[in-house]
Amino acid sequence: MTWTLVIHGGAGKLDSEMVSPEQDTGARAGLSRALNTGSKVLADGGGALDAVEAAVRVLEDDPHFNSGRGAVFTHDGTLELDAAIMDGRTRAAGAVAAATATRNPVGLARAILDDGHHVFLAGKGADAFSLERDLPQADAAWFATDERRRQFAEFQANGGGFDVDMKYGTVGAVACDTLGHVAAATSTGGVTGKRWGRIGDTPVIGAGTFADDRACAVSCTGSGEFFLRVGVGHEIAARVRLSGESLQVAADAVLAEVKALGGTGGVIVAGPDGDMAWGFNTVGMYRGRASSVGSRTVAIYANEPA
Ligand code: ASP
Repeated sequence: MTWTLVIHGGAGKLDSEMVSPEQDTGARAGLSRALNTGSKVLADGGGALDAVEAAVRVLEDDPHFNSGRGAVFTHDGTLELDAAIMDGRTRAAGAVAAATATRNPVGLARAILDDGHHVFLAGKGADAFSLERDLPQADAAWFATDERRRQFAEFQANGGGFDVDMKYGTVGAVACDTLGHVAAATSTGGVTGKRWGRIGDTPVIGAGTFADDRACAVSCTGSGEFFLRVGVGHEIAARVRLSGESLQVAADAVLAEVKALGGTGGVIVAGPDGDMAWGFNTVGMYRGRASSVGSRTVAIYANEPA
């Protein structure tokens, strides 16, 4: 059977004026590395769950994206990382919100999934679980980059506040393995200047991350508040499962709902029969896809070949 892998590194106001040549080249290289890593797992007969985790780890370690190293700062200048992973075979899931010290938040989400007692851990408890599992730890010296410090200073100089059209740098992956199982993983620093323990869609199962072998796997990026209200991941999967819509039709319809409420962003989708889709209502989305049969693509801007 064929395998497929689709990844994203965030959507938003991405055009050649907003994306520096260094960011363009660096992000494409990062997407390519993540595709290679995830593809190798799948080509070697590995599972979709391992492939999405492996691909997201690469993007978390890459400072060009808003997750792990390169995550954005909160209002108080701290880092609070959110991530989730879900297995379409059993709908087992692991999620973490406001983790502060785990080098790879997706690895923490995976440890929660594997542990099996709970689905969603937050804050201090998530950090404690990570230590108990001996997961590699990191501090601001690893996570914080000069570019994020500059953006944070700009945010403070502008008096704070959110811009719904900002660049979202969340990362995610969806895959279908050679046995026809799907999985999804997503990881983010959230939005710059987030406050009061704000949690976006990314770690919420059914919103930013969802996987069900009966339908598809979904990973989102965008204005999390709107993606939460629409329940984007579950909504796309429900349309596919109950109405028999294609992945693309379902993704486009649900993104239109997000837009109708005032939200922006994008989604990537993989189905158990080898179908793949992506969509975004922003100027661009860092994205890539590969499969055992089709061609491999890495793109950023809307006008690049699909
Ligand atoms: N969806 C993420 C959040 O709201 C942000 C992003 O996609 O970059 O936390």
